Amino acid sequence: MFQKVLIANRGEIAVRIIRACRELGIRTAAVFSEADRSSLHVKIADEAICIGPAATADSYLNIPAILAACELTGAEAVHPGFGFLSENAAFARTCEKCGVAFIGPSPEAMEMMGNKAAAKAAMKGADVPVVPGSDGAVSTLDEAKAAADKAGYPVMVKASAGGGGRGIRRVDRPEDLEAAIIAARQEAGRFFGDDSVYIEKFIVNPRHVEVQLLADSFGHVIHLGERDCSLQRRNQKVMEECPSPAMSPALREAMGEAAVRAARACGYRSAGTVEFLLSGDSFYFMEMNTRIQVEHPITEMVTGVDLVKSQLRIAAGLPLELCQEDIRMSGHAIECRINAENPRLGFRPSPGQINALHMPGGPGIRIDSAVYQGCEISPYYDSMIAKLIAYAPTREEAFMKMKWALAEFLVEGVDTNIDFQLNLIKDPQVEAGQYDIGFLDRSPALTGA
Ligand code: ADP
Ligand code: ADP
Ligand code: MG
Repeated sequence: MFQKVLIANRGEIAVRIIRACRELGIRTAAVFSEADRSSLHVKIADEAICIGPAATADSYLNIPAILAACELTGAEAVHPGFGFLSENAAFARTCEKCGVAFIGPSPEAMEMMGNKAAAKAAMKGADVPVVPGSDGAVSTLDEAKAAADKAGYPVMVKASAGGGGRGIRRVDRPEDLEAAIIAARQEAGRFFGDDSVYIEKFIVNPRHVEVQLLADSFGHVIHLGERDCSLQRRNQKVMEECPSPAMSPALREAMGEAAVRAARACGYRSAGTVEFLLSGDSFYFMEMNTRIQVEHPITEMVTGVDLVKSQLRIAAGLPLELCQEDIRMSGHAIECRINAENPRLGFRPSPGQINALHMPGGPGIRIDSAVYQGCEISPYYDSMIAKLIAYAPTREEAFMKMKWALAEFLVEGVDTNIDFQLNLIKDPQVEAGQYDIGFLDRSPALTGA
């Protein structure tokens, strides 16, 4: 096992990774930007190094500074968390060249899945059902038109390099296609430095159901069931649950096997997630996220498997300790993303100082967060400040627990989406499990505005 790991991230995921390292007896090195001097991950790591100014390009995305920090601290491996450099194949490759283990898949697997258009083509070849659409990226308007006509409207224009719901446009009529492509290209260029786009049939009212995978370096691949992430605002996840209320054991097996085929097709190693759209009993591959995901804790609660510790073991060259038959899903878990934002003002981010804080607790409540009383929520980064997770033997009890936990959660100094989450968890349709990916956008009243 590694003696020391550097965490190339911040916030709650950095804290989460430091905890996993601690449990495995690994020493930790944190990196931080000038804006994060007093962040929790800096305080709890064994050592911490400033890697640059607040802007992410100068700090958390600054590859030379991060590798210099590895050299200075003697870290043998880097955990990239999610976001930032987690899906950057060039970073993974540079780490390898510098003799630092990248805790994740090989750069080749990341490259194959990182281009979503190319990944879809590869998945088709691996007998994984994909959303109908263009074969790879479209280079001309005529090509796009032909692909859209073939798929049938409505269609989605999607950025090949996309992530975080960015660079995606729905198009209902042929005459709107060109404008959507221009808009998606612009956004994709700005966010990902790559403006290539592809066309996909718009699946009406599907659910977003994703499968968690673990794979080691010896060709063992297992799946750990699914998460339902259909509760989304503008294609961004808000609340997730495990298992999905729409799943049957047969469907779980079929989707799990398709996800395993996807992982095998790219020689995958580490933890990863295959995202599907589920419509009735049909499911379609959307993309693979080659990293730990925000919502990984709900799978951990239901399966009892620590995914971050598994990543560390796999990266250290150890074989998976579990086989498919060992994976049992038991009970139900829900995650609410707590953001510093104001739902009444169009979810405007609300940075500032947290001057009073009370977080809920009790049996079955888990909080992954990096906030503490007096801490500063920086305007430079993501507005997610905590993840509240409720686990219980049944879905009903998990919902009940989450309601009380949200009601107990007190944050003063910044605006939060806690009341919005409370409205959501109390919604009869959500409680009944009858929601699809468009549900939140069709329910403006939930914001309380
Ligand atoms: P996930 O796909 O892990 O469920 P999202 O889809 O909401 O999470 O995340 C969107 C993108 O933004 C992903 O690339 C994720 O890695 C990144 N991201 C999400 N939250 C954060 C954060 N707090 N800091 C940095 N990056 C983040
Ligand atoms: P990202 O890389 O930004 O996470 P995804 O391909 O995962 O992009 O899509 C983000 C979300 O957009 C999905 O979770 C889903 O809600 C919606 N979406 C994506 N593709 C389609 C589609 N073809 N039809 C309907 N909804 C879609
Ligand atoms: Mg996605």
